[in-house]
Amino acid sequence: MEVTVKAALQKIGRQLDENIFPRVKSGGIVMPSEPAVSPLTLGVEKSYDKASRQRRPKSRSWERTSGGQRPARGPWPPGQTAPVVRTGLQAQCEDELNAVHEAYPGTRAWRQEEGLWLLTESSLLPGLLQRALFLTAISFSRAIVRSWGFWENFLAGPVWIGPRHTNFPDGSICAFEPTDGTWVIGGSMVELLDLYTLWALRHLHLQVFGRWPGRQAVHYPYERILELREDEYCGCGKSDELYGECCRDKDLARSQVADAVHFITCAAGGLRKPPDAVMRFARERIEPPRFSDLLVR
Ligand SMILES: [Zn+2]
Repeated sequence: MEVTVKAALQKIGRQLDENIFPRVKSGGIVMPSEPAVSPLTLGVEKSYDKASRQRRPKSRSWERTSGGQRPARGPWPPGQTAPVVRTGLQAQCEDELNAVHEAYPGTRAWRQEEGLWLLTESSLLPGLLQRALFLTAISFSRAIVRSWGFWENFLAGPVWIGPRHTNFPDGSICAFEPTDGTWVIGGSMVELLDLYTLWALRHLHLQVFGRWPGRQAVHYPYERILELREDEYCGCGKSDELYGECCRDKDLARSQVADAVHFITCAAGGLRKPPDAVMRFARERIEPPRFSDLLVR
């Protein structure tokens, strides 16, 4: 990694530690926040910089892409076609698609019976050779969004981004706490993709500097022991302190066997990885997986 790229990453990481949120530009380029912004005016991820995106026109209708809008092969009997009436979520997503294409050039979209798949790429930093690829599934009928992140560069195929801050067991992105209102279903897809972009940037920081920058949520004590460095922010919920100063000693003093069993039981064996169908889609980019195979809960 070039020195200038590394310096930019480090600067953004320091800002995240201070609760200063960077701006996300077209193509998923992350820029440090301007120094004039006071950290005191910003909260945790809720204060995510919505203003950094300009309002985008919402006029253009659904676009066909080279990927096509074919329904997934197989599971749908001929009589079972998509409903004629669009649901509110469907209408909103389709109407925002133009804005998504503008914010993330090269976006590809596939429509299925149950929802929409988006393939987007984020460059993260000017001069960075690897890019983040996101495969995002939006189920209209179940009002669920899942996304998976992958690294890609010119030499290697897609490599899953994880396991830190991904969901059990499917390895999908966990970019914010669902309970804190950072983003809720029905919110702007561009903002959601920006949150995923920031999540990938934090992963890049972890990859380069070995440390997750900024606040985070890691609820299981055993998971904190496994994953958190003591100079990272603690994930306990009152996480304005570093792990080493907050919960580490408490976590270590607990029964680690009991905690490990609890963690493994609650967290689907403690293992995370994308479903094979998602991996294949990331490699081939021809036909997205069926929602019914993925969004079981
Ligand atoms: Zn703590």
